[in-house]
Order: sequence, then structure tokens, then C-alpha cells
Amino acid sequence: MRKAIGIDIGGTYIKAGCTDESGNVLKKQQFPTLAEKGSRDIVLKQIESAIEFAMDGLDEQPAGIGIGTPGIVDNEGVVFEAPNIPGWNNLPLKKAFSEKYKLPVVVENDVNSITWGEFLYGAGKGYNTIICITLGTGVGGGIVKDGKLMRGSKYSAVEIGHIPIDYKGPQCKCGNYGCIERFVGRDYIVERAIKAIKEGKKTLIYDIVEGKIEDITPKIISDAYKKGDIVARDIWIDVGICLGALFSGLVNLLNPDAIIIGGGISKNVEVMFETIEETIKKRAMKILAKDVKVLPSGLGMDAGIVSAGALVFQK
Ligand SMILES: [Zn+2]
Repeated sequence: MRKAIGIDIGGTYIKAGCTDESGNVLKKQQFPTLAEKGSRDIVLKQIESAIEFAMDGLDEQPAGIGIGTPGIVDNEGVVFEAPNIPGWNNLPLKKAFSEKYKLPVVVENDVNSITWGEFLYGAGKGYNTIICITLGTGVGGGIVKDGKLMRGSKYSAVEIGHIPIDYKGPQCKCGNYGCIERFVGRDYIVERAIKAIKEGKKTLIYDIVEGKIEDITPKIISDAYKKGDIVARDIWIDVGICLGALFSGLVNLLNPDAIIIGGGISKNVEVMFETIEETIKKRAMKILAKDVKVLPSGLGMDAGIVSAGALVFQK
């Protein structure tokens, strides 16, 4: 079975592994990104160590190297505008490593990469068209349409987090107004809890953080929700309505089989998944929304490595 090298670049760690065509991880390790050193050469060196670790001891040449990276990636594998990694702009990542290792190198935006992994091995397996988002500090997204990872004409695109749902909404850090990220990004979910507490609403969230509202995280809001807290439940319902509004537009555009939601924030928050599905069914064109499923991500801990390796196996 063919093997691939999967490299998942994050702001804190570079995760590296050797994967096979069935999505198994044969070996893996993580390396500090060292982004804080402020030098792209240092980060490149770390990626090199990661690739060398993953290739070490292989009895055959891998099919290629797949790299998932933050930022926008053009068709030549040049990275632009990666947040959290200094110097990660106008960086010819593909060229650098294909010349060095004489192997095919596929570079893709990290969430596009995860979407491809979900399609091949995760919750999207067996479907034709899927939309995938990851909820975290930011909101990332990817689309597989008719079995192919969707890209723009020249760049990776599919920046679902920066699709506006409210043209009069608050300004997003990208400069636009009312982007979905501005409503369901980590800080904005937390903001809802702080507002409720300041309005004098009684909530377990306040008790869990013992009054230190700066300690509130989405995880704490979901803990409170699981204990039956009404304020926490209302927050997840509102997050679900925002996402449902976004997806009703995307369902009308693409008629997907499944919408997959990943990222630690959404874990086990059933009411949010239910609300997203209800909102889509209410707002999207009935026939297009009829069969769409809203699912949690199906890849486990090694999602980044498996997905990056899978990039090499694109049809
Ligand atoms: Zn935005």
C-alpha cells in the first residue's frame, strides 16, 4: 500500500507522520514550530526535521509529502497571509521541499486539508459533496464538491469563516462586517456568557469560574450546559442559529450531503447540532435541505497528520 508523509503546521506545533492510503498513521511525532523566534528560516528548519523524522526508516519511497499550513495557498504551493507564523507570507513552500526531497509535494490550507481528510476517512466518507468547518479562535472551512477539494481560481479560498451573515453586523478582524467568525469564534461565544452575567442572569458558568469571568471558555459553557444550565443552553442555541443561517445559504448554493463540524469547542454540544439542523430545514430551500446531515468530525487526534498525508492521494 502506498505511503505518504503528512505534515500539519500549527502556530505552536508541527505534527509529522507517515500515513498509508487507508488513513492509518504508521509513526508520528510533534516538533515545536518555534514561531516565537520570529524567523521563517527557523520554522522551515523545523519542518525539515519533521519530514526527516517521518521518512526515516521507510523501506520504500513515499508517494509524496502533503503539507497543511495556515494561510492562503496558491496553485503553485506558495503560502500567503498565515496568521501566527511570522514571515509566513509569499513563501514558496512547495518548491522548497520538492527540490530538496525530489518527491511530489502538495501544500494546502490546513482546514481545506482537514476537509479532504474527513471526506476520505472521516465523517464525510461515502458522500459526494460535503462542507466542513472547524470552530476555534477562528472559524475555518473547506468544501469537497463532487469528490474534489474545492479551490478558487488561483488560491485556496473557501474562507467560510469570513462569509458575512449580517451586513450591518460588528466588524471582523478581516475588515469586513458581520462575518460568521465574528459571531461564533471562541471569544464571541465567551462574550455572550459575560454579557448574560453582567445583565444579572443566574448561571452555573459564573459558579464554575468562581466569579472570575476572564476565565470563561467555550468548554466551561459546554460543561454548564451539560449540567442543565439554561443560560449556557441559550448560548449554544444562538450559536446554532448563527451557523444555521450561514449553512442555509451554503445549502442553497451546493446542496451538500453532509455538513461536518469540528474543533474542540463543539464537542458533545448536542443542542447546537440540533439547532443548526432545524435552522437549515427552516431557512434553506426545502428540497435542497431535505437530506442534509449535520455531523461532528469523524477524524480523531491525528486528524492533521492523516489529512495532510491524504493530500498526496487526491484524485
Ligand atoms: Zn471576517
